[in-house]
Order: sequence, then structure tokens, then C-alpha cells
Amino acid sequence: MEELLASPERCAGILQNRLVANMFFEASTRTNQSFQAAANRLGAKILVFHPQSGSGAKGESFSDTMRMVDGYSDAVIVRHPCEGAARLAADVCEHPVINAGDGGNQHPTQAFIDLYTVRKLKGKVGGVKVVLFGDLAHARSMHSLLYGLSMFKAKITLCSPPGLGMAEWMVEEARRKFGAKVAIEKKPDLSSADVLYTCRVQKERFGSPREADAAQAAFRVSKKLLEGANEELAILHPLPKVDEIDAEVDSDPRARYFEQAKNGVPVRMAALAMCMRGFGREGKGGRRVPGFSCKNQSCISGIEKAHWGWAEGAGLRVRCRYCERPAG
Ligand code: ASP
Ligand code: ASP
Repeated sequence: MEELLASPERCAGILQNRLVANMFFEASTRTNQSFQAAANRLGAKILVFHPQSGSGAKGESFSDTMRMVDGYSDAVIVRHPCEGAARLAADVCEHPVINAGDGGNQHPTQAFIDLYTVRKLKGKVGGVKVVLFGDLAHARSMHSLLYGLSMFKAKITLCSPPGLGMAEWMVEEARRKFGAKVAIEKKPDLSSADVLYTCRVQKERFGSPREADAAQAAFRVSKKLLEGANEELAILHPLPKVDEIDAEVDSDPRARYFEQAKNGVPVRMAALAMCMRGFGREGKGGRRVPGFSCKNQSCISGIEKAHWGWAEGAGLRVRCRYCERPAG
């Protein structure tokens, strides 16, 4: 797709006359704009949605809104503040649904961008040493990247402020399902790291903003942190950055986040084209587990009263169909 961008006419034939619904129920600049850019480049048309003036404001359920828009379009992109919202949308829609971020859960297309950026910069993902640095508890881009890096056999180090570590069940799943090599460190060793991936403290997911500010102040990418770091290090960030990276780091040649953001368009073009041309449909693996009630307060299942447990394969724990958090 990146090469195709040089031939706008060829690009514009790929999804010509198709219609994509862009359903953003939560603030977004980059993801929203880059999906719109991607759809436009591919020749698709876009239905734009304004949550303030939508029927949600009149009390319509999320699943009804999704069902309806599915009837108007050929694919649905959804961002929502509740975890599991994209899965619920996929269950009620006939057309492909792309998760553009579901609360603090996952942000898979961001992980595609991150993996693609690592591969472009380092020539591969397997064996590359990546430090995930920051609020690993709430940052959905970190969650998706953990899985993506694990699938491609990167060497992963997790480093977070106290209390903001990656959920144990996610780390355990990455290890068990994908054989991930994950180390957990208090301080990152950047002398041999290939990638330092950081992210803002996700203030909107904290009970107290003051707590978020304190966590951020103690955990920043500064010139000092980079003393002795690998000369070839790539510093990545999904953006927006607030003050977790010192301004002077922006001019360090190792800061590659603006380049990373630019990869958003070709990567999202690929995601749209693959979904809308029939690739990548989820298999029907797993089985329904009756009588399941998700305990995650941020999960869509509570609001939409969609309680559905799910178990895949032999010996795997039962988890919520939507936010995927395991029972218990
Ligand atoms: N939430 C961020 C923004 O507003 C990034 C994104 O949209 O993914 O830009
Ligand atoms: N853009 C990313 C997201 O939407 C990261 C962030 O907002 O901090 O999750």
C-alpha cells in the first residue's frame, strides 16, 4: 500500500464505490483522520458520525446504532470508550468491523502500525529487543502491541510505574499462546534495546487525575534516561504525546514517532482492503458459555446487558466474549 500511494489512480480503484462508516464514540484525531485518509485513497466513500447529535444522545443502545449503520455501509470502523465494544459490534454487524480502540482494552490497527514501523526500521520483528515503557495498565496500544510483538517473537521488556503494570493475565496469555519472551524490569536497560516504545499516562482512565500526573512525572523519556542508550535505538510513541517525552528528545535522531504516525495511512489502507475484500474474517473458533457475567466495570457488556462467556480450545479459561477478561 505504501508503494501504491505513489500511483493515486491505481489506489483509488481498490475500494471504488464502497462505503465505510466511521463510528467514533470517543475522541480521536489521528486514528479517525488516518482511517478517513486511507478510505479516501482507496476510492471508498465515508459516512461520518457525530456522537453528540446521534441517537445515542436520545438513548438508543450501541448495538442498535451499529446494526443500523451496518445496513447503510460495507464496513464499520468503531472507536468506543467501553472495552469489548468492537467485539459486540462485530457480533451484530454483517459487514466487517474494525476496532479503532475499545476503551482501555485494545487498539489493534495501532499495533499493526507499530509492527510495520519496527520492521521498516530494524528489518525484522523477530528477536528485536523492545522495551514497553509507561502506563501498561491502561494503554490499549500497549496491550495490542504486546500480543503483536509476541506473535512475531520479539524480545519484550515491560517497564512501568508502580501500580501501572500490564495485567498479569495478558502477560500470561502472551506467553502461553505465543511463547512470548517477556521480562519485567523496574528500570529499562537501554544500552542493548532496539526499540523504546512509550505512551502517555492514560489520564482519562484514572479515578483521580492527580494520581495520573504523579505517575507521569516519575516516568518520562528524558535526555538523562537516554544516557548510555543504544545509538541505534528507535524511540516510538503512538501519539498524542503530552509531557512524557522531553521536548529536546524530539530532535534526537533516534526519535522516530512522527515517521511512525505517517505509516498509519498505508497500514490502515491494508487493513480496510483486506477486510473489505474478504480476507481475515475471524474463524468460528470457541464456544459459548452460558450464565457468565463479566466483572469488568469498563466493559460494554454491563451497559448493553450482553453477558456472554467464551471459551476457546481445550483447557483455556472462560473469558468475557467482549472485553476478553478471564473469569475470576
Ligand atoms: N486518541 C489519540 C488522538 O486523539 C490517538 C488516536 O486517535 O488514536 O489522536
Ligand atoms: N493513540 C493511542 C490511543 O488512542 C494512544 C493514546 O491515546 O495515548 O490509544
